[in-house]
Formats: sequence, C-alpha cells, structure tokens
Amino acid sequence: MKRIGLLTSGGDAPGMNACIRAVVRTALYFGMEVYGIERGYQGLIDDEMIPMEMRSVSDIVQRGGTKLRTARCLEMLTKEGQKKAVKTLETRGIEGLVVIGGDGSFRGAKCLSEEYGIPTIGIPGTIDNDLEYTDYTLGFDTAVNTCIDVINKLRDTMTSHERISVVEVMGRRCGDIALYAGIASGAEIIVVPEVVFDLDDIVMKINRSRANGKHSNIIVVAEGVCTAEDFAKQLQSVTTYSVRPTTIGHIQRGGSPSMADRMLAAQFGNKAVRLLNDGIGNRVVGIRKNEIIDMDIIEAVSMKKKFNYELYETLQMISM
Ligand code: ATP
Repeated sequence: MKRIGLLTSGGDAPGMNACIRAVVRTALYFGMEVYGIERGYQGLIDDEMIPMEMRSVSDIVQRGGTKLRTARCLEMLTKEGQKKAVKTLETRGIEGLVVIGGDGSFRGAKCLSEEYGIPTIGIPGTIDNDLEYTDYTLGFDTAVNTCIDVINKLRDTMTSHERISVVEVMGRRCGDIALYAGIASGAEIIVVPEVVFDLDDIVMKINRSRANGKHSNIIVVAEGVCTAEDFAKQLQSVTTYSVRPTTIGHIQRGGSPSMADRMLAAQFGNKAVRLLNDGIGNRVVGIRKNEIIDMDIIEAVSMKKKFNYELYETLQMISM
C-alpha cells in the first residue's frame, strides 16, 4: 500500500492529535504517503484533504481536540454520499483508510470496507468508553481526570457549606465516566443509566453519612440518566440539606491528554498502520487485558457494552 488517508469523526476526544501523529509517523516509516482528511466523512465526500509530512504533526502530541477537525456527516449515511466518498479515494489514489472515532464512525468504516472494498481500520476515539470490544477508548482517561479535578474542587466548597453536590458528567448512554470518576474522587453515590436509582435509598445513604460525621456529599449523575439540574430539584424536594447542581459539560472533551491516553494513541495509531501495511483492512484496534488487539469491525460494532457491576458494588462498599 503506497498511499493512505486518515480522518477523525464524531465527537472529539483528547488524544486524537497524538494518534494522528502516530498514524502519520508510522506510515512515513513504512514509506507510505498520508493524506489528512478534514472534517471527518464530510471532508472525504467534499475532497478536503492535505498531504501530511513529518513536520505536519509536530507539537501536537500534547494538544486536545483534533488538528484534522471533526464533524457529524448525514450525507455519509446515504448511498450517494458513500459513492462520493469512494470516488474521492479513487481519484486521489488512496488505497487504505484510518478512521478515528466512535461506533458511528466505525459503521462508516465498515461500509467502506465491506461494501466498497476499501481496506479501513477503525481506532476507538471517544471519551464515552462505550465500546465493548476494547477495555478503554482514546480520551476516556483524560475526560475522567478532568471530572476528578472538578469534583475535588466541588468537595472543598461543599464541605465548607455542608452541602450536597450533584455533578453531571458525559458518556451518553454509558455510565463509565460516572463510575470511574465517582470511585476515583470518593463520591458517595453514582447514578448511571445501567442501574435504576431509588431516591429514598439515596436520601438514606446521605443521612447515614451525615450521622457518621460527613459534612458534604457528592453525587455523580451520568448524562444518560438526567440533567444535574433535574436531579438536584428532585433531591432537594426530599432533603433539608442544601443541594447544588453542576454540569461539567464540554470541558470533558478538551485538554492535554493524560499519559494513559497518549500511550493508547501511540499504540493504536501504530497498530492501525501496521495492519494496512500488511494489506489487512476491515478491522478495529483496541486494548484488552493490557494488550493491543485488532478485531473484525462487524464483530466489534455488534458487541453490546457491558456495565462493570463489580466496580459499581466496590463504590457502594467504600464510599460511605
Ligand atoms: P462519538 O461516540 O464520540 O459521538 P461516533 O463516531 O459514534 O462518535 P456518530 O455521530 O455516531 O459519532 O458518527 C459519526 C459519523 O459516522 C456520522 O456523522 C456519519 O457520518 C458516520 N456514520 C454513522 N453511522 C453510519 C452508518 N451506518 N453508515 C455510514 N456512516 C455512518
């Protein structure tokens, strides 16, 4: 394979830039040319791309966001859009493609591989950690660290005023950001889409913790359940303690990637290009039990994300 393309698609995630760097540098190592496609599948359809050189990816390993920018592209869901995308690749002589994004982006990659025969490799880039086939997605660790930082600050002021903080975190339908941020920040309660919550039980836990000498409480609510504002209103109607909602929001998607995300970025990017160099497509890369793996795209996107109930129970046991 002499020329490959690379795009970032869907929601951005810290570590995407570090991954772009790894893809470009590995491809150059193998003597391939690399085109950076801008604005995800939209840029592929509109033929917006730039040749990437060694220095195109200098000074980005530490930056959040994505240098190639990203977009959601409805046209890619249509046959006409897909054909335009394929035409661009053919005209440019691009023989293989690396797609960094979430499960939606993988469906686009699957379509290009399966229906149009373009060897495509997916790299899981999303803060949500909502893909079952990989233990971690790129950006998740940094996003959780951002949440922990916010919760630490909230804890200070909540303790001073003896309040309850309701903190809303991202993750769409997946509770992993809430679960990991909750455990790592010492939150008393997490509310996730995977477990039905009981307000009476939450009030009981809060009362018990106060009786045991606590001066504040942190409740982490995943966005897939409800907003911090709504949850705080419900809770305030059944408790005399003062409740304050905070939505962390898009801060979770930005910032310099953590060591863990930079390592994933380097390994995922490197593995993706190694596969293309071996003439292998229609795969996604990931990490399982600390080992970098690759898997068939169709198999990967059809796996249903499982919630880690053992970790959830761990929080219940150690959080009071
Ligand atoms: P995140 O999880 O971070 O939001 P994502 O990759 O899941 O990332 P989506 O918006 O679901 O984000 O998908 C990104 C893009 O992938 C879509 O805008 C669309 O262009 C393309 N895509 C999604 N599903 C398909 C599909 N079934 N066929 C072709 N392309 C698709």
